[in-house]
Amino acid sequence: MLKLRPTIRIDNVYEIDEAFLRAHQIKGIVLDVDNTLVRNKVGVPDEKLYRLIDRWKSAGMKLVILTNARRSRMALFGDEAGIKIIPMANKPFKKGYVQAVEYLGLPKDKIVALGDQLFTDIWGGNRAGLRTVLVTPIDLSNECLWLRMKRALERPLLRKIQREDH
Ligand SMILES: [Mg+2]
Repeated sequence: MLKLRPTIRIDNVYEIDEAFLRAHQIKGIVLDVDNTLVRNKVGVPDEKLYRLIDRWKSAGMKLVILTNARRSRMALFGDEAGIKIIPMANKPFKKGYVQAVEYLGLPKDKIVALGDQLFTDIWGGNRAGLRTVLVTPIDLSNECLWLRMKRALERPLLRKIQREDH
């Protein structure tokens, strides 16, 4: 298979607590936003998410947002949460990941790329030599046609990955 297999699969980002970070020896996270941290295109984090981000920071986590969206759409979130944004990253291409790793200043084996899309976040993270964490998308109801097509292509692969994991 193309490098589409996530290292770890989780149902939502709240599973990433201090114990999870310790167990997997994670020091830095490359974050996707849409449908990973917040609902697609809504982009407004709530208190619960801010608390999670604070916990990550308190645990010494270094964070960076790597997004294919424009900066303007992510600015509110990044600024409020105090997280650097690398916008229009062209995931799954490598360049953005190289920038993200450079910014985090950590060895690659201490960094995970977190996201909800196999063909974007997971493929990109794997190609960049990072471990990858696939999260179940928060809400598929307002995705555009292009994304819905990608989801349709993801589905059989996800089923295969799930089968092989069991
Ligand atoms: Mg996403």
